[in-house]
Amino acid sequence: MAKLKLGLYWAASCGGCDVAVLDTNEKILDVAQIADLVFWPIALDFKYHHVEAMEDKSIDVCLFNGAIRSSEQERIARLLRAKSKTMVAFGSCACFGGIPALANFFNRAEIMERAYVEAPSNDNQGRTFPQFQTEVAEGELELPELYDTVLTLAQVVDVEYFIPGCPPPVDLILKIVDALATNSLPPPGAVIASEKTLCDECDRKKEEKMISKIYRSHEIIPDPERCLLEQGILCMGPATRGGCGARCIKVNMPCRGCFGPPAGVVDQGAKLVSAIASIYQAKNEEEIARMVEEIVDPAGTFYRFGLADSMLKRKRL
Ligand code: SF4
Repeated sequence: MAKLKLGLYWAASCGGCDVAVLDTNEKILDVAQIADLVFWPIALDFKYHHVEAMEDKSIDVCLFNGAIRSSEQERIARLLRAKSKTMVAFGSCACFGGIPALANFFNRAEIMERAYVEAPSNDNQGRTFPQFQTEVAEGELELPELYDTVLTLAQVVDVEYFIPGCPPPVDLILKIVDALATNSLPPPGAVIASEKTLCDECDRKKEEKMISKIYRSHEIIPDPERCLLEQGILCMGPATRGGCGARCIKVNMPCRGCFGPPAGVVDQGAKLVSAIASIYQAKNEEEIARMVEEIVDPAGTFYRFGLADSMLKRKRL
């Protein structure tokens, strides 16, 4: 059987998704048995013109990690889409915007101001900013344009499959490799994870879900047997897709929501706000106000990974 042609790329992301591919350890040899890597800039020396020279649809599968927040990332997403038969949004940033999409609480001008002027380590009294075009003696130099709004991969190109996770766990990576090897991929549009919520898969004891105080993780040592939410720790389990193996819960840390919304949920943050509101044990408005105050950075908590994919997508400009 001819080997598959596999491409990997990272856009706006931390690089953890690429490391997760290496975390498959010796199983990466199984990947090498069924696929040839035709593009993977972090590991091998490819140039964009090599991809441009490929026939359209000559890459069988492209694992694309990272959100889209610059003109270069959009250009390469469109290029890889044209060259690939199957496009996979690989990791939370490609699927939902992820941590980079927290930039959608600001705009480009505010981000530039913070990064190049306000940050305490800067000495930039002349207010020098990177320019997208600069004339020099040798010609014009270009930098990619930074966008006001961070986008998910599917907001830019058609995507066949979604593998969530920050980063995706090894067993889900191997699942798609197996599916490729055996030609048993699910129908396009599928999320390669569980259909259930993380709570459905979590084996902690759930008793009475009523809370009267919210704790941050460092303010309490939680009972390792009981549901974290019932102990007042904001756990995104009720609003998050399962399939991660409850890695955070098993080390007594709450779910942060990196697997995105479960099947049927449009807005992960709104779902969690509704879940929390239904378990607040407050007798009057004052108590409600006090508990709301206890949630530090509510927008960043409820939309930590999913802002670009939410109903609002960003703060109004
Ligand atoms: Fe488990 Fe968190 Fe759900 Fe509680 S809220 S059952 S700790 S996933």
